[in-house]
Amino acid sequence: MDRSNDCAPVAAGGKTLTRDEAVAFLTARVSPIDGTETLALDLALGRVLAEPVMSLIDVPGWDNSAMDGYAIRHADLAAHEGRLPVAQRIPAGAVGEPLAPGTAARIFTGAPVPEGADTVVVQEVCEASDGQVRIPLDVKAGANVRRAGEDIRAGAEVIAAGTRLLPAHLGLAASVGVARLVVRRRLRVAMLSSGDELVLPGEPLGPGQIYNSNRSMLMGLLQSWGCEVVELGIVADDLESTVAAMARGAREADLIIASGGVSVGEEDHIKPAVERLGRLELHQVKIRPGKPLAFGEVQGTPLLGCPGNPVSLFVTAVLFARPLIRRMQGIAGELDVRPLQVRAGFDWPRPDKRLEFQRARLERGADGELEVAVYPSRSSAVLSSVAWADGLVQLQPGRVVERGDPVEFLPFGELLH
Ligand code: AMP
Ligand code: MG
Repeated sequence: MDRSNDCAPVAAGGKTLTRDEAVAFLTARVSPIDGTETLALDLALGRVLAEPVMSLIDVPGWDNSAMDGYAIRHADLAAHEGRLPVAQRIPAGAVGEPLAPGTAARIFTGAPVPEGADTVVVQEVCEASDGQVRIPLDVKAGANVRRAGEDIRAGAEVIAAGTRLLPAHLGLAASVGVARLVVRRRLRVAMLSSGDELVLPGEPLGPGQIYNSNRSMLMGLLQSWGCEVVELGIVADDLESTVAAMARGAREADLIIASGGVSVGEEDHIKPAVERLGRLELHQVKIRPGKPLAFGEVQGTPLLGCPGNPVSLFVTAVLFARPLIRRMQGIAGELDVRPLQVRAGFDWPRPDKRLEFQRARLERGADGELEVAVYPSRSSAVLSSVAWADGLVQLQPGRVVERGDPVEFLPFGELLH
C-alpha cells in the first residue's frame, strides 16, 4: 500500500491549516446553490431569503397615539386655560372625527390621532370630570404621537436577501403586509457512515459491532441547519463500496458529508475514493479533536470527510460543515460562530499543541457570575460529554488556563442553527 502521504499534511500547498484558515479555505471553495421557491410565511421558518422583503405599507400607517390619554391641539391649551370638553372617544381600531377647535378627544394606545390634533397628553397627568378634562399647561407640543411611516416607509427593504428566517423575521414580514417569501431551495446534503463495525439501532449487535451514533447526530445537525438529507447509508470499509456511495452522493446532492474512514490507515477509504473520483484538497487541520479532516471534490460535488469518533464528528461538523453549509445556502454575512469571552471555572495546566475544543457548559460560580465548566473526560469517544454540554470551549495551543482567566465559549445556541 502506498503510505507516502502518511506524514504529509495535505492542503493546497501542502501545509496543515489552522481552524480559521480551514474555514476560509472551505468557504472559498463553494458557492451558493441556485433555485428558489415561494412559500407562505407559515412555512418559511429557518429558510434563507432569496429576495429581500419590501414593505407594502407605511408603518405606522397613520399618526397614532403612543399612550392612553387625551388628543388635543396644543395651541388650544393656553387659549382655554387647560380646560377642554371631551368631544369624542377613539379606541384602537376606530377612526375619530376631525377634532373640533377647543375640544379634546379621549384616545387609547394605537388609535389614530384625529385630524387637527397634534399632541397626546397621557391620562395620568389629567383630571377628567363632567365631560371635561383638565390638562397641565406645560405639556410638550407633539408629545406621544407616533408619526405615520416613522418606523418603516412603504417600499423600504425590511429584510435583506441572505437572511436565515427566524420567528422575528416572519413577524416583521407580516407587519408590512407580506404573505409570501421567495427563499432558496433547501440544500441537499448526502451523508454516509463508513465502518464495517456499524449497525443501526433497533438491530441486534454482533461480535465487535457498535451502533451507528453518527448517522443520527449528523442528521439532527443537518436538519437543524435547514438541509434536506440524502442517506447513503452505512458503507463497508472497502474502496469500491466507498467509491459507489460517493458517486451516488455526487449525483443526488449538493454536498456530501462522510463520517469515519478519513485517516490514512489501510481500513480508511475516504481519501483514496475522493482521489479516484475527483480531487482531495485538504487533509489535516490543527485542532483537537478532529485532526484528520478531508475536503475535496467528487465529480463536481464538494465532499467533507469527518473523523468517525462521535465527539470528533460533532466538533468538526459544527466547526467546518456549518460554515460550508451556510455559504452554500446563500446566507449573507458572518458564516462562522462568534465566541463569547467567559471566565474559566476550571484549570487547564497541560494545554495541547493544537487548538482544542472541550465540551463545556455555562454555570454560576460561587460569586454568582457566569463561568465555563468543562466535562471531566477529554476523550473524543465519549458522546455523553456533548449531550451534557451547552457549548464548546476553545482552548488556545500551549496556553495554560487558570480558573478565572477569560476563555472563548462557543454556544450551541448559535452552532445549532
Ligand atoms: P474511524 O474514523 O473510521 O477510524 O473511526 C474512529 C472511531 O470512531 C472508531 O472507534 C469507530 O468505531 C468509531 N466510529 C466510526 N464511525 C462511527 C459511527 N458512525 N458511529 C459511532 N462510532 C463510529
Ligand atoms: Mg473506520
